[in-house]
Amino acid sequence: MSVDGYLDRLKRDGRIVVVGASLAGLRGAETLRDGGFAGTLTMIGDEPYEPYDRPPLSKGVLLGKATADHTALPRRRALDAEWRLGVPASGLDMAAKRVRLADGDEVEYDRLLIATGVRARPWPHEREAALDGVFVLRTRDDATALQKRLADGPRRVFVIGAGFTGSEIASACREREIEVTVAERGAAPLVGALGGVVGEVAAQMQRENGVDLRTGVMVTGLEGDSAGRVRAAHLSDGSSVETDVVVVSLGATRNTEWLAGSGLGAGPRGIACDAGCRAFDIRGIVTDDIFVAGDVARSPHPLFNYQFLSLEHWGNAVTQAETAAHNMLCESVDRRPHMWIPAFWSSQFGVNIKSVGVPSMGTEIIVTQGSLSEHRFAAVYGFQDRVIGAVTFDDARWLPFYQQLIESTAPFPPQFPTVDRRPEGARPVSADFPDPSVPTHGPTVTLSGYSPADRRITFTPGRH
Ligand SMILES: Cc1cc2nc3c(=O)[nH]c(=O)nc-3n(C[C@H](O)[C@H](O)[C@H](O)COP(=O)(O)OP(=O)(O)OC[C@H]3O[C@@H](n4cnc5c(N)ncnc54)[C@H](O)[C@@H]3O)c2cc1C
Repeated sequence: MSVDGYLDRLKRDGRIVVVGASLAGLRGAETLRDGGFAGTLTMIGDEPYEPYDRPPLSKGVLLGKATADHTALPRRRALDAEWRLGVPASGLDMAAKRVRLADGDEVEYDRLLIATGVRARPWPHEREAALDGVFVLRTRDDATALQKRLADGPRRVFVIGAGFTGSEIASACREREIEVTVAERGAAPLVGALGGVVGEVAAQMQRENGVDLRTGVMVTGLEGDSAGRVRAAHLSDGSSVETDVVVVSLGATRNTEWLAGSGLGAGPRGIACDAGCRAFDIRGIVTDDIFVAGDVARSPHPLFNYQFLSLEHWGNAVTQAETAAHNMLCESVDRRPHMWIPAFWSSQFGVNIKSVGVPSMGTEIIVTQGSLSEHRFAAVYGFQDRVIGAVTFDDARWLPFYQQLIESTAPFPPQFPTVDRRPEGARPVSADFPDPSVPTHGPTVTLSGYSPADRRITFTPGRH
């Protein structure tokens, strides 16, 4: 029983509002009910759909193996929630504990969970972005529209950006025997997330599978025909590629604009929160009634030098939402920290890619098992003489072992003999990550420093 009975009252007949009705929002809401929350639960989502799963959108859905409307997330339990779908939250009044909706309505809360995720970064030239045949891929509607266009049999698809999503789109195109060109500003696909050594393997995989991969180039413009359909992409090396479909895959933007002026520590890099998922306000003071989870959150992690991590990982969204919901209903001494070890998977060109830890923090890499040239290997990343991340290509069964090394801050390079160690794994080499000040496609893990708010603020301390 809490000291003043507040938590008991909250659980019995309090009001909890969840903004963002997707993976983190749903799993958070389910955990609240599991934890005995019997009060009013309101789920606010700007999309018209109940929570659905995004990873299949760039995989099975683009291949035509599943339709986007069959991606609904399985429910772990009945929710008994009031769903406000198809209407975005447009503002937050922290003092009055009220969420404003774009339709003018307001919803009061005792505790708030923010899980508004990210959205695809659009092509920056508005007129070109509006051409028929130019797509992004983040939502169910995006996937339906793109899959339909792929089914029409385009002559060529042009993908801008070779991060995970762009590479998966290219892979789906090749599997459908559609010609595809990928343009990447960096030196290789996946370099932002996995560095140049592994990026080179990804480049080989693309080329061996018939992708026309152009690296070290920028797209300078998209051209349309007189009917407003895209017909060509122009590149910084002076070349042009004729295409009838362009997929812009330039990473993501965090959905925090609706919080502007609210006083919450929210900005372009996400919403800063403590390890217990409580949001910081712009003064760097932790709030006690506003919690954050999923792609929109950034939180400190002791294993990674207390850097604030922003993670665009499915597993992170689930775990962080569960932790946030647990902490929303308990005393501070019973709260749990969100200490999830980042983990990510992707499948492309028939290869299963998995990573743990934060490879992009690594300065060196060593191939501990298998061989880069066979596209089947495990590699470990080192930072300040310890293991900080690992990646496997078609060798995922070893990942839990590498995760243990990361968790125990094992020395780098690892000193043990490994199964299937090859001569190329004799010593580490530079992991070859691009200069972080140079924009590439966004990695799915972002180290975002210590500042709770990203905007410049004027802070005037109150007089006492
Ligand atoms: C194509 C694709 C493939 C992926 N593949 C993988 C993969 O292979 N492996 C992996 O680990 N991860 C993958 N991911 C990432 C994974 O899907 C995300 O990490 C996960 O969806 C994050 O969940 P979330 O609930 O935090 O955010 P989101 O899923 O982004 O959900 C946030 C929700 O909030 C809504 N919202 C935003 N603003 C407002 C507002 N103001 N008011 C109300 N609602 C709002 C959004 O529209 C959205 O519905 C993939 C993502 C995509 C798009």
